[in-house]
Amino acid sequence: MKKLIAGNWKMNGSLAANEALLREIAAGLSAQPACAIAVCVPAPYLAQVQALVAGMPAVALGAQDVSSHASGAFTGELSASMLREFGCRYVIVGHSERRQYHGETDTLVADKAKAALAAGVTPIVCVGETLAEREAGQTEQVVKRQLAAVIHTNGHCISEIVVAYEPVWAIGTGKTATPEEAQAVHAVLRTQLKAATDQAARVKILYGGSMNAANASSLLAQADIDGGLIGGASLKAPDFLKIIAAAPV
Ligand code: PEP
Repeated sequence: MKKLIAGNWKMNGSLAANEALLREIAAGLSAQPACAIAVCVPAPYLAQVQALVAGMPAVALGAQDVSSHASGAFTGELSASMLREFGCRYVIVGHSERRQYHGETDTLVADKAKAALAAGVTPIVCVGETLAEREAGQTEQVVKRQLAAVIHTNGHCISEIVVAYEPVWAIGTGKTATPEEAQAVHAVLRTQLKAATDQAARVKILYGGSMNAANASSLLAQADIDGGLIGGASLKAPDFLKIIAAAPV
């Protein structure tokens, strides 16, 4: 399976910075990269980045959140069909920053994944434990609970999602799970997917949490790590390009 390297720009960027970043990425990309690539950008920049990546066939567009509702009186929210209209192939749902700062529950995240799938946008469903949960030996229980909600709500469509295992303690902290720690959790998630669908082998499970140019190749070499969700390092073209180059075929 082709690996997927997806950048999560979070709440960063400007018209000028986005253009400069994407031009630098375009200039450094090989004609046919070995992996699939995406950039998940802040909503106001979707149209700008849609136009910029139109000239970069290897790079898909993604958003960072979506409403669980299809339309209506939900001020401030964005529907999956709106994202689709702006060419989004992916949308991140359930990022730990949404769960933590916006109180998103497992059920809401599952409903968001469903709304995305219904509009033809692939949800990148984030799961991951906090440091306290890891130290309490609850990692497996937490990620399984988070993924179970998405499986329950999405039934046979579950093979259409992308999962991102993002230990909360590793996001933006410079602390990365070791390749073995990450692989162990990815294997748990793969087993859970296998119990839900006979298509589990084609579900991409990304690792996210301080992945960078130095640690990408050892993480991406693990059997069940099918790519990366990259925050900080996706904002620096040379780093993002090195992570892309580290993805094995
Ligand atoms: C993220 O926000 O999804 C992420 C993995 O961030 P970082 O790479 O900066 O840890």
